[in-house]
Amino acid sequence: MECGYNSCNFARLLSSIGNSPQRLWNVKQMLSTSACPPQTNKAKRGISTQSDRCTRCNLYVETPDHVLVECPAARTTWSWIWRWCDLPENNFNTIEETINYAANWGKCVKKMRILISICYDTLWWIWKARNENVFKKLCIPPTTVADNIQSMVYIWIKHRSSIKAKNWAECCSNPLT
Ligand SMILES: [Zn+2]
Repeated sequence: MECGYNSCNFARLLSSIGNSPQRLWNVKQMLSTSACPPQTNKAKRGISTQSDRCTRCNLYVETPDHVLVECPAARTTWSWIWRWCDLPENNFNTIEETINYAANWGKCVKKMRILISICYDTLWWIWKARNENVFKKLCIPPTTVADNIQSMVYIWIKHRSSIKAKNWAECCSNPLT
């Protein structure tokens, strides 16, 4: 079966952007397991599949771009993220478009790096929610995914980045201010 996504190009893009090594590692691991259509991975793990449709919406073919960006469940989480960051509603269709947007956003490098981190975390948590659904039959609401992203970003800003520490309330209101 033909791969639906060029993970090599995306890995190069991530490397060129640069960010927390752990986050890059997480996203690269995620893409390496999703370089072929996710349904193929399900079959490899012995999980029966009736079609190549997305497990969450059952409307479209389950490619990485669909699962992480286009799927209505993913869009709901992304919509929350853009509102949290006080950014316009961005309806991107691919992972690469999303990361490129973050990498070219604004004029402050530190804020741009926070936005890239938020995008990494969003991709990662949407992927985790999809896997919980596929492999454990757990349905994690998009708002819960967004809450997890917010917590992870707060911890990163507070403990791991060189950015001036924010308190929880500041981070909840807008992580880019
Ligand atoms: Zn879907």
